[in-house]
Amino acid sequence: MDLIYAPEDEAFRTEIRSWLETNLPAGWFDPDFEMTPEDRKEFNAGWPAKLFEGGWICATWPKEYGGKGLTTMQGVVLSEEFARAKAPLRADFFGDTLVGPTILQWGTEEQKKEFLPQILNGTMRWCQGFSEPNSGSDLASLKTTAVLDGDEWVINGQKVWTTGGHHADYCFLLTRTDPDSPKHKGISYLLVPMHQPGVEVRGITQPDGTAEFCEVFFDDARCPKDNVVGGVNNGWKVANSTLAFERGMSATTGYRRFEEEFKLMLADATENGAIHEPLVRQRMMEYYTKIQLLRINGLRSLSSTLAGTKDMGVAALGATNKMFWTEMHKAAMELALDIKGASSMLIDTGSGAGSWPGTSRDKGRPGYPVSPMMSAFFFSRSETIWGGTSQIQRNIVGERVLGLPKEPQTAQ
Ligand SMILES: Cc1cc2nc3c(=O)[nH]c(=O)nc-3n(C[C@H](O)[C@H](O)[C@H](O)COP(=O)(O)OP(=O)(O)OC[C@H]3O[C@@H](n4cnc5c(N)ncnc54)[C@H](O)[C@@H]3O)c2cc1C
Repeated sequence: MDLIYAPEDEAFRTEIRSWLETNLPAGWFDPDFEMTPEDRKEFNAGWPAKLFEGGWICATWPKEYGGKGLTTMQGVVLSEEFARAKAPLRADFFGDTLVGPTILQWGTEEQKKEFLPQILNGTMRWCQGFSEPNSGSDLASLKTTAVLDGDEWVINGQKVWTTGGHHADYCFLLTRTDPDSPKHKGISYLLVPMHQPGVEVRGITQPDGTAEFCEVFFDDARCPKDNVVGGVNNGWKVANSTLAFERGMSATTGYRRFEEEFKLMLADATENGAIHEPLVRQRMMEYYTKIQLLRINGLRSLSSTLAGTKDMGVAALGATNKMFWTEMHKAAMELALDIKGASSMLIDTGSGAGSWPGTSRDKGRPGYPVSPMMSAFFFSRSETIWGGTSQIQRNIVGERVLGLPKEPQTAQ
């Protein structure tokens, strides 16, 4: 099963290929191409500006807000070509994948004009202020408050697990704005500047030495009254849109990183003989089969988008998709470690040591590094948690797709 492309889509593919060949560092397509940590840092710093010049960030957004207004199939071709070249296609995940599409869907004209261009040109970095110490899965119980004072919201409370909070310029923040309403009804979605005296960010160090997430404390922090997205006390619906974007993945290219991993595992298993163990072979085939299911399911959802039909709502699609790939990947990384054994803990050893998808050699704290494979393993443990745990995704599927009775709620 494969896609059929129109001649104009193939012409567009040629345009992207030639742009990539011109703009990626020399030697990028050589099989043994590697970057030093310094070169990677320089590449990462300069790449968003190049993407912006090419117009590739959020290129499916309407032209009036700075996008290229690409068709669905052009968007598919764009993702395919960047995936083929293994070139990053985003400036800031929280900006271009989460809050940008949310502002497009729910924002006022003023918000679109103020924030979307800065997301597109990669100059504004964002973080997601949803989870609190006692409000993760039960997000609607959040306690951070926002109270109007003239033309500004005054914010007090604490968020946790805020990825990239220490680099962010703005936070899309869930706050309680009506304490007397039922918990889902008194929440507002605010856009809050991070660089101000009332915001304190503290990093949380993880087992692999990185400190990507933070605790964020709001102590009389402020943002303009007009920075509420989707209306006052309507934040629960808006947040669910953001979560649906977070749980989705590219329909046609999302599976590819798993194929890359599968090849690395196969190389390791062939090299050390693990491939001859029946149980390893069985687990590898299970992984490969699931990757193909992911690919075919992506094609199915693309066909239904193109045909204008929807076999399930966006929330349910995000929930099934996220639950499937994160559980699959967690098991696959356990398999990768079982195949490689204790040597998976050694840094820069064996095939693919520096190339596990989603990791890079320069990650980690000096003096406390782990191998890229271990780093990928650790991160796979978090995938069934961020964006809503697998149990929560199962609840969504049970209640919204299968129509099962709602689980009992605690008192409001
Ligand atoms: C890598 C990573 C990045 C993250 N980045 C961000 C971020 O940028 N911004 C942000 O706001 N948050 C972020 N989070 C937080 C994430 O959204 C929460 O960890 C997640 O929603 C779970 O909440 P919790 O940790 O409080 O666990 P809890 O809600 O306390 O859950 C504990 C356990 O109980 C289970 N459970 C809870 N309720 C139910 C139920 N009703 N039915 C069945 N089982 C249940 C859960 O599945 C879980 O196994 C991140 C998390 C990770 C791991």
